[in-house]
Amino acid sequence: MLTSLSIDLDALEHYHRVHGIPEPSPGEDPVYGKAVERFGELCARLGIRGTAFCVGRNLDHPRAAAAVRRLAEGGHEVANHSFSHDYALSSRSPAEIAAELRGGADAIARVTSQPPVGFRAPGYTLSPALLRALTTDGYRYDSSAFPALPYYLGKAAVMGVLALMRQPSRAILDRPRVLLAPRTPYHPRPDEPYARGTPPDALPILELPITTGLLGFPLIGTFIATVPGWALRALSLGTSRLPLFSLELHGVDLLDASDVSPALAPRQRDLAVPAVKKLARIEAFVRRLADREWVTLAEAAERLGTGDGDDRRPTGTPAGTRRPC
Ligand SMILES: [Zn+2]
Repeated sequence: MLTSLSIDLDALEHYHRVHGIPEPSPGEDPVYGKAVERFGELCARLGIRGTAFCVGRNLDHPRAAAAVRRLAEGGHEVANHSFSHDYALSSRSPAEIAAELRGGADAIARVTSQPPVGFRAPGYTLSPALLRALTTDGYRYDSSAFPALPYYLGKAAVMGVLALMRQPSRAILDRPRVLLAPRTPYHPRPDEPYARGTPPDALPILELPITTGLLGFPLIGTFIATVPGWALRALSLGTSRLPLFSLELHGVDLLDASDVSPALAPRQRDLAVPAVKKLARIEAFVRRLADREWVTLAEAAERLGTGDGDDRRPTGTPAGTRRPC
């Protein structure tokens, strides 16, 4: 049984877009500063190595690049979260998708000297064209499938309210088919990213779904940091049998209202909880999974994938596992 801890480094500008509020002026972003540092410190306390999904454009800032470089030097995996975090990436043209993938990969390679082998789609949304492009570029795994019913319904409701208020969000709602995606790693069908393929009708890339709990409850950082422990234990029922528990955080999970702009703080309710408290809750949740092996997602893909037709091997992190201590 494997477990992975990953973090999506979505800069705060993306949250402004999700909430339909004016974007902040470009500058130093606490996600690529304090959040990256706190993620590295969290992993160090737990004695594990994690995976950080970076948005290539944000690595243009020297301070952001230095923070991510330090993370990579600490043995953590740095993976691709696209170049600009376009929520509609999955519906773009093949040329636009290829440019987003390569822009993100090039930025990461410039910072870490290692090309990424893993990808997570902005907004968790996949399409056949996006998976085809990832396969063409030799990615070993994708980790975007998120079959979380409460998250899906909540996102639909928020987008509906914003549309009624004439403040449309730039996010897009995935197809309901995502809710039927497998909860265990799988090689997708070329025509349906959310269905398990069977050889020869299966892509070589391995899909590593983000773990959901009871009734599709999203067991991700935002909720782990804010939901009481007894409720989390109940909502985690059934996850102990999964071959991979993929625990996902976002950079904002490691920040609080004192780290962000006054316009964003009241709209993102989890920012009201002090970062110290959220980190303690996440750490406690991770320690409850201590009986499993902890690996980066690249290592998980190597261990769980068949590798059929895929000659690109994970790089950047040595093989091996650690348990939280
Ligand atoms: Zn993201």
